[in-house]
Amino acid sequence: MKKIDFKLGIIVALLFFVAILWRILMEKNQEIKNLNTDIEQLSDALEKDLVTKPSKATLKKPENYQGDIALIIDDFGYRNDEISDGFLAFKVPMTFAVIPGHRYSSLMGELSEKFGFEVIIHMPMESHAITEGEESFILRENLSEIEIKNRVNKAFEQIPQAVGMNNHQGSKATESRWLMRILGTNLRQKSKYFVDSRTTKETLAEETMLLLNVPTASRKVFIDNSDSPIDINRQIDQLVTFSKKQGSVLGIGHVKKNTLTVLQKRIPELQEEGFKFVFTSTLLH
Ligand SMILES: [Zn+2]
Repeated sequence: MKKIDFKLGIIVALLFFVAILWRILMEKNQEIKNLNTDIEQLSDALEKDLVTKPSKATLKKPENYQGDIALIIDDFGYRNDEISDGFLAFKVPMTFAVIPGHRYSSLMGELSEKFGFEVIIHMPMESHAITEGEESFILRENLSEIEIKNRVNKAFEQIPQAVGMNNHQGSKATESRWLMRILGTNLRQKSKYFVDSRTTKETLAEETMLLLNVPTASRKVFIDNSDSPIDINRQIDQLVTFSKKQGSVLGIGHVKKNTLTVLQKRIPELQEEGFKFVFTSTLLH
């Protein structure tokens, strides 16, 4: 009787052991299955991203090539709505300039990069006019060198995707050789470029950047200083004329409804006509 009990005990123990082993194997199997699904989903997403990324959409020069157009869209960071979504849905290379210090600044930096756009900081700079907002970021002539650097560092911390910078306002700041020198030295250390939005005729920004070997360029046309679609269209015509004449042109617009609507119509037309949309970084000197 004792022998049988002993054998039974061993069999039960064995069965128990096999059951546990089976369970562990099944769990591992499920884990591997889950992992595979995750990887599949991830590569699906990546594939879709690659298909829709603007940088991939227009790599080649069209056969009827007429010239390059680089567009910077300023003032990202204030809004996260159907207007910003509309810009993120474009399938051509564009450069999006994000103002630091706002509710959607970091998010817009992230989204713009994710959707394949070039990102720069739209740095608030001192203006001759009285302005409001971004107080803790504005580069002013009466700040210490350390404070200027701190503000620039803080902007790049908030928008780490940025490969360069342009100025938001800044009619006073860009006239200051002292301030432009400090900014330029800092940007060169960071290997970032600077685009002069040219908010004053007396600007020293581009020439100072050139002296300091910071890759630079300047805005040729503002496409939406007036918000009327007729005027925006007229400014885009100007952009096109410059591009044809000089081979390339740099224009600046803003995250605004009418700008979006006009660009949604004009961009495909201009591509048809042989204009190539490029990132601002391709036009630097
Ligand atoms: Zn601005």
